[in-house]
Formats: sequence, C-alpha cells, structure tokens
Amino acid sequence: MDPQMFCQSCTMPIDNINDRGTEKDGSKSSEYCKYCYQNGAFINPDMTMEQMKSFLAAQMPKMNIQADIIEKSLNILPYLKRWQKVKA
Ligand SMILES: [Zn+2]
Repeated sequence: MDPQMFCQSCTMPIDNINDRGTEKDGSKSSEYCKYCYQNGAFINPDMTMEQMKSFLAAQMPKMNIQADIIEKSLNILPYLKRWQKVKA
C-alpha cells in the first residue's frame, strides 16, 4: 500500500483515488484533490495561501477534524507544492 498522500494544495488526504483531481487527459492527479484541481488546472487559480488557510480554518472544524490536526495542516501549508513558488 502507498504511504498516505495529501493534496499538495489543501492537505486533504488523497489515498482514495476517487478523492483525487484529474489531469487534462482525464487521468487522476497524484498530487491534488478533486476540490482543488480538475482537468489539469486549479479550480481557484487566483487563491492565495492565506485564503486557503482561512478556508481550511473555517471548514475543517465542520468536518469534525481534531484541533491539533487542523493546526498541523495549517502549519504545513507553506511547504506544499502549490504554495512553495509563492514564497520564492
Ligand atoms: Zn486539495
């Protein structure tokens, strides 16, 4: 079994192939979830990392995610592939 995979945009686990986004050719993305990425492009291409942070901080508690996991997820955002180039 593959090690656990996370969306490189929002930290959502994408171990389940049905949660993964799609590339232009219809294949599944190995890096992004379906909520962030469809047809080879981000759904919200202009979203900033700060916006993603606020979004997750608002949405994750509603999904009954534990506070320490939410904090961890928010802390790793800057290291995800999507946001790294923003810092460079
Ligand atoms: Zn995502």
